[in-house]
Amino acid sequence: MIQFMFILSIVIIFLILAIILRKYLPKWFVCDLMGWHSEVEIYGNDSMSCLGKCKKCGKRVMMDSQGNWF
Ligand SMILES: [Zn+2]
Repeated sequence: MIQFMFILSIVIIFLILAIILRKYLPKWFVCDLMGWHSEVEIYGNDSMSCLGKCKKCGKRVMMDSQGNWF
């Protein structure tokens, strides 16, 4: 049980660190693996969504209603 708690806390700490440090992590990790496009240059929007371009990977992304880029 103690080992399980230990592994769980390691995973939680890693996730929190990944969220805080996602600006500094390599693009293959944040963009390709996690699907986070943190530094997005907005270049327009239609009535439904916001269009932008990820500065890290250069991919065209859109903002959903929650404000997340995909
Ligand atoms: Zn990206």
